Order: sequence, then C-alpha cells, then structure tokens
Amino acid sequence: MGLEARLPDGILLTSVEKFIGWARAGSLWPATFGLACCAIEMMATGAAHYDLARFGMEVFRASPRQADLMIVAGRVSQKMAPIVRTLYDQMPEPKWAIAMGVCASTGGMFNNYAIVQGVDHIIPVDMYVPGCPPRPEMLMDGILKLHEKIRAEQFVPRPRKGESMEDFRRRSGWQGPQPDDIAAMPQPGGLHQVLGSGQVRA
Ligand code: SF4
Repeated sequence: MGLEARLPDGILLTSVEKFIGWARAGSLWPATFGLACCAIEMMATGAAHYDLARFGMEVFRASPRQADLMIVAGRVSQKMAPIVRTLYDQMPEPKWAIAMGVCASTGGMFNNYAIVQGVDHIIPVDMYVPGCPPRPEMLMDGILKLHEKIRAEQFVPRPRKGESMEDFRRRSGWQGPQPDDIAAMPQPGGLHQVLGSGQVRA
C-alpha cells in the first residue's frame, strides 16, 4: 500500500507529490531476477562500468519484499509465468516493472506455445526496452525514462495543461461525481443549524 492510499479523497498535495516522486525515483531497488540472455546485460548494467549507483539503484534485492522494481530480463516461459506473477505480487506497493528486450515485451522470435507473448499478459508493465539483447545503455535509457514517469506521477489524476476534459477522462478513467457522491453532499436548504443549546442539527 503506497502513501497515496492513506490520503483522504480529494486532497491535493502537489508539492508533496513532487517531493515523493523525486524520492521514489532516486531510490528504486530492483529485484534480483533474470530469466534468460538479457539478464547478462542487466548484470553488466549493475556492474562498475555502468554504475547504477549513480541513480540510487545499486541495491539489487534478493527478496521481492524489499524491491520496488522488477526488470523482466528475458523470455518468460509458460512454466515460469506463475512464478513471475507470484514474485510481482510479493513486492510492496508502489512498484514498477520494466520489460527488457523483445522477448519479455512481445515474445520476440519465440512465437510459440511455450513462451508468454509479452510479460504484460501477467503483470502490468511501465516501460518497454527494445533490442535483442538491449545493451546496458538501452536499459539505462529505459530506467531514466521510468524515473521521469515516476517523478510525474500524481496521487489524484488531474487534467494536464491544455488537455480537454474528454482526453482527461479517456486517459485517467475519471468519470466525475457519481450519484452516491452527490447524495452525500450537503443539499440546499439542508444546511446545518446551530441550536441555542450549542448542538448542531442537520
Ligand atoms: S531478447 Fe534476445 S537476448 Fe533477450 S532473452 Fe530474448 S533472445 Fe535473449
């Protein structure tokens, strides 16, 4: 459960959002987790030459319960799919996932019954990195783009500058006040009255 799940509905904390987005983006801890050849490139990315420590990411965690980023590095076999899903479910919120390479993103050249045709069939993916295998620079580019996305995340969806309400509804799924919300609002003529005794009557 992320911090945003504990906030009361309708509270806008733009500066807090920016600060938390900055802190989250600067302290992603990836799960130690590789499936195939792409994992070798992921390991190289974490080694000294490329130095993920620059982004606060050198701590690859051996337990999903201590990680908030899953880098799916390699093809996902049908046999492995439930395990990937279990590991993802064991990661605490908020969490993000990168599909590294064409196999994790789409199944790639393994267009057959044994390989899941894209890991987004089993977990939500935040960033796709193309290539076979993607070089460490490409993975780092995907990581930096994910950082930008995390920094821009909003606790409460709001229209972007210049965005029409129609586009905003389509993007965020926001439907506007629902009948129950309207029924719960104070009605005209039903304002609270303060009685002489100091009691409040609806
Ligand atoms: S994308 Fe290429 S390097 Fe990565 S797992 Fe598939 S075949 Fe291997």
